[in-house]
Amino acid sequence: MIQTFTYEALPIRVRFGRGTIAEAGDELSRLGTSRALVLTTPQQLEQGEMVGVLLGQAFVGLFAGAVMHTPVATTEQALIALREAKADCVVAIGGGSTTGLAKALARRTGVAQLVIPTTYAGSEMTPILGETEGARKTTIRSLDVLPETVIYDVDLTLGLPPALSATSGINAIAHAVEALYAEDRNPVISLMAEDGIRMLSAALPVLVSEPSDMEARTKALYGAWLCGCCLGAVGMSLHHKLCHTLGGSFNLPHAETHTVVLPHAVAYNATAAPEAMAAITRAMGTSDAGHGLFDLIKTLDAPQALSQLGMPQDGIKTVAELALENSYWNPRPITRDDILSLLQRAWRGERPQ
Ligand code: NAD
Repeated sequence: MIQTFTYEALPIRVRFGRGTIAEAGDELSRLGTSRALVLTTPQQLEQGEMVGVLLGQAFVGLFAGAVMHTPVATTEQALIALREAKADCVVAIGGGSTTGLAKALARRTGVAQLVIPTTYAGSEMTPILGETEGARKTTIRSLDVLPETVIYDVDLTLGLPPALSATSGINAIAHAVEALYAEDRNPVISLMAEDGIRMLSAALPVLVSEPSDMEARTKALYGAWLCGCCLGAVGMSLHHKLCHTLGGSFNLPHAETHTVVLPHAVAYNATAAPEAMAAITRAMGTSDAGHGLFDLIKTLDAPQALSQLGMPQDGIKTVAELALENSYWNPRPITRDDILSLLQRAWRGERPQ
């Protein structure tokens, strides 16, 4: 049944397809900008340079120092590059780490952002920015950090290694899953969530064996867009809270942590969110959401145990305490014993319960 809801569309212009990166210059003009600082990671330096060539005269600098978790020290270095180049916009090519840097610069200077995502993390569709300073992580939600334009170019994802395609894809599915049982869910986002899960769960098994399968790459990137919209639009619950805490406390890798935890968080919430579970099972063609996700991840040969990611077993208690520290919405009430048992199973890589 349709319930009372609020829906707020986010003002982002999206171009999707193959070869769409060729439109980057036109998109910058459309934004009224003409001096672009290109951002990327050291690993994607070549792609950054390629964007520079494409932009021609609008290319005024390259900063290839983006790293995971948006450290403030890196942002400060990039700010110097932005000022020296007298840039009036940034063009970010890469995954969530590069997008995070673009958002951090926009927050401080108001520069326009054109984001060209090459993973499935979805940050480009959200007004959320997480920054780190030492061991401290702060997260803000503000339209000031929302990118103005996003160009999805399927061709740029062809080089995403199979292992990263798998974990990044599950990271995207996690946004959609939690959107389906969010307290502030709405019918539009739920449609996007179900289709996002459908696209990615069909594409990922193909991509791990055939990384350049164009149909699967297209489905995966389209699914990632839908899932990113979900993350940007509604609140997240237990799964994201656990991953945030695990990542922050033990510096665990982002997409891999989401991959291990998701089946357990879904199984935990199953009885309290029957409509969400029905949507997930419909999308995946499985009979049980938590087990279906666990089996999908096994098929992808992706990590299934927190122990594999370097998490110490004696850290489980700390994470459980932190996960209970601030109250947040979750369809099923959260107790210390239940979370301890969930984390223990996830640490050992056991089937969810
Ligand atoms: P990432 O951006 O750190 O990328 C991982 C590695 O893969 C990097 O070395 C990158 O250069 C490389 N890479 C990316 N695309 C590639 C490609 N097509 N081919 C070859 N190599 C490629 O990883 P991520 O998972 O995309 O992003 C994780 C970060 O994003 C975390 O810091 C996370 O907190 C943040 N994030 C933020 C939001 C948000 O809404 N604020 C949402 C999701 C993730």
